[in-house]
Amino acid sequence: MIRFSNVSKAYLGGKPALQGLTFHLPVGSMTYLMGHSGAGKSTLLKLIMGIERANGGNIWFNGHDITRLNKHEIPFLRRQIGMVHQDYRLLSDRSILDNVSLPLIISGMHPHEIKRRASAALDRVGLLNRANHLPIHLSGGEQQRVDIARAIVNRPQLLLADEPTGNLDEALSLDIFSLFEEFNRAGVTVLIATHDRALVQQKPKPCLILEQGHLRY
Ligand code: ADP
Ligand code: ADP
Repeated sequence: MIRFSNVSKAYLGGKPALQGLTFHLPVGSMTYLMGHSGAGKSTLLKLIMGIERANGGNIWFNGHDITRLNKHEIPFLRRQIGMVHQDYRLLSDRSILDNVSLPLIISGMHPHEIKRRASAALDRVGLLNRANHLPIHLSGGEQQRVDIARAIVNRPQLLLADEPTGNLDEALSLDIFSLFEEFNRAGVTVLIATHDRALVQQKPKPCLILEQGHLRY
């Protein structure tokens, strides 16, 4: 699904954020991306999304070298990827259902189909009964589930998460990881950046470990 070959990234004027990364994420895998703050986890996810550009090396997404994409091709890449954030990033003045509908509206789907698909996605994360509520009426764990519903509503092949449990306590974090496992079992490839070792120990999976921009093997 994803292949990195000798990938490096340095921000303008900074020291290298990632150096010489080579790894492969097979289709259908679920992997943790671990490392201390500043190790390069967010940068790695941004390279996959085409938000940042590598300075060296190649990144293949389903056999396409995404380091060579032009500006117009990036939206097509992003449409195949769902992204979950630490801080949920929900629109506070829109209902839960409207928040989850957004990616489908952008893709130009028929309103009737949007409602059906967004409701199905909310059902998958156990929040269909809150569809008409505003985000502020939901707990942190619930808001994170809405962010996940929005990330998967387009049926992406790849689900990326950047510290998705950073604002949640341990029990809620386990729930969120279980949800990722469910989507993974349905065939979605999952990559979760986290520094929560306790959680990772409870749900062991293959790990990529970053140390100051290098992969530790
Ligand atoms: P992590 O997600 O593991 O905390 P990041 O990928 O955010 O790590 O950061 C890796 C390194 O790149 C850090 O040294 C950070 O300061 C630097 N960095 C991240 N984003 C930028 C940016 N936009 N401009 C300059 N340096 C950045
Ligand atoms: P529907 O197929 O009618 O949309 P489902 O209950 O099968 O309803 O799925 C509900 C939502 O869960 C979908 O809209 C999609 O966002 C997500 N989903 C289900 N299966 C997958 C899958 N294999 N890959 C990605 N997303 C999925």
